[in-house]
Amino acid sequence: MDDCIFCKIAKKIVPVTAIYEDEHFIAFHDLTPQAPVHALVIPKAHFATLMELQETEIMAGALRAVQKTATALDLVEEGFRTVINCRENGGQTVYHLHFHLLGGRFMQWPPG
Ligand code: AMP
Ligand code: ZN
Repeated sequence: MDDCIFCKIAKKIVPVTAIYEDEHFIAFHDLTPQAPVHALVIPKAHFATLMELQETEIMAGALRAVQKTATALDLVEEGFRTVINCRENGGQTVYHLHFHLLGGRFMQWPPG
């Protein structure tokens, strides 16, 4: 996906400071943080939304990558929130699957 910003980040065409990285995932800080700590975990392969992801290996790896990223950000003890926005009503704006990882303050529930 030549015009996808997260593909460019995954391929390091756009410079990125990785919080966590493995063969299939990379995590980095969100450009517009919604909490004191706001990271994004993305698969390096392009899936437009959660619903395009079918590979169970990548599904499992995603949660592992979220755990690793939360550990790297020292969020484990205090806790954090993970969010996947899917399509229009989910508020998705970047159509490359990503997991938000929010922490550093109490997260209200329900979300707005
Ligand atoms: P969503 O609304 O779930 O699609 O979230 C997209 C997120 O990507 C937003 O929180 C944006 O701030 C973030 N974002 C967009 N472009 C970049 C970028 N170049 N680097 C880091 N985060 C970005
Ligand atoms: Zn992409």
